[in-house]
Amino acid sequence: MKTIYFDNNATTRVAPEVLDAMLPYFSELYGNPSSMHSFGGKVAYELEKAREKVAALLNASHDEIIFTSCGTESDNTAIRSALDVQPDKRHIITSSVEHPAVRSFCNQLELKGYRITEIPVDQNGLLDMDIYEKSLSPDTAIVSLMWANNETGVIFPVEKAAEMARSRGIIFHTDAVQAVGKIPIDMAKNYIDKLSVSGHKFHAPKGIGALYLRKGTKYSPYLIGGHQEKNRRSGTENTPYIIGMGKSAELASANMEKEGSVVRYLRDKLENEILKRIPNSRINGERELRLPNTANISFEFVEGESILLMLNEFGICASSGSACTSGSLQPSHVLRAMGIPFTMAHGSIRFSLSVYNTMEEVDFVIEKLPPIIEKLRSISPYWPPDSNPHDLTVRTKHENE
Ligand code: PLP
Repeated sequence: MKTIYFDNNATTRVAPEVLDAMLPYFSELYGNPSSMHSFGGKVAYELEKAREKVAALLNASHDEIIFTSCGTESDNTAIRSALDVQPDKRHIITSSVEHPAVRSFCNQLELKGYRITEIPVDQNGLLDMDIYEKSLSPDTAIVSLMWANNETGVIFPVEKAAEMARSRGIIFHTDAVQAVGKIPIDMAKNYIDKLSVSGHKFHAPKGIGALYLRKGTKYSPYLIGGHQEKNRRSGTENTPYIIGMGKSAELASANMEKEGSVVRYLRDKLENEILKRIPNSRINGERELRLPNTANISFEFVEGESILLMLNEFGICASSGSACTSGSLQPSHVLRAMGIPFTMAHGSIRFSLSVYNTMEEVDFVIEKLPPIIEKLRSISPYWPPDSNPHDLTVRTKHENE
């Protein structure tokens, strides 16, 4: 059975060009980039070229890029470092819809005595900028707001938020793991101090990331050891993966327009046809301010997990919320933060596309999905909605526990 892959916010396929670029670094080019000999020196040279390519994708300078093991490490390091260099400050601002790489880390910091403010979002997933502005205080060590949400694709005005933080002397970090490679990012035109990148979200392998660190930003490394990455992240460099991410950054720069037009066209077609063919379905997240590849759709009175299982029978891969929350029966924290009613949030599916998807694949999903929803609703005690106006409060209460 053919795999129809619509789960690109969970991870992407490694681009064939990326794999080709990486392979020599597992075999003939295995030198250590820190070695004095030219065998290692050749690897160090290519590693710096990869750094330049990642920097170019962000319109940053090569020495503002620190390679890490993943987006999670970049997020954790960005926040931890801000606290280390400002021990007198005890306040962190973030949002209620961050990825666990930020949110769970902040929860842990709260247990250690830090004050965390989670800025709420509205029902479209948009950040409350008034509350944000009022929350900025002299005690704030760092603001960490995601550029684009992994579940809904909603884009936050991080450049504006960074400007507001900068005017108060507050360090600003953005988790741009879902934005990088999908929408243009120009670090020369904003005041963002730190930005997290993850290779496997834009066709590099899993287990490689980067942290952008603006020149002049006070920083304290998390990993301390052999002085790699100019003492900012020790540990022998994962050279094949860094080379791979360099190549994928180059491809992403070249594909940016395609991502914005072709991928958006496919996503819009998928969404519009689904909304047209399936009653009581809706898009979650502000439609205009979204990544071009993400569609988060709720189907009232069905369970997302059941939809996923039935799509899986046709080889269609999608997700119910982020990969980390799949398997849990709770609707995702993102949809709950948006105040999506339980009956909608519970039946939400995320389709996330890439430049490798085709119109045939979109048509296939459009053909298979309506009968799946119809079948599931035919066995749902809550369908049709008019026949069951009761019970929902009980379920909502349960969900809040
Ligand atoms: N931040 C966001 C928004 C993500 O979507 C993810 C991965 O799903 C991460 C951080 C974590 O990245 P990684 O898997 O590279 O640790």
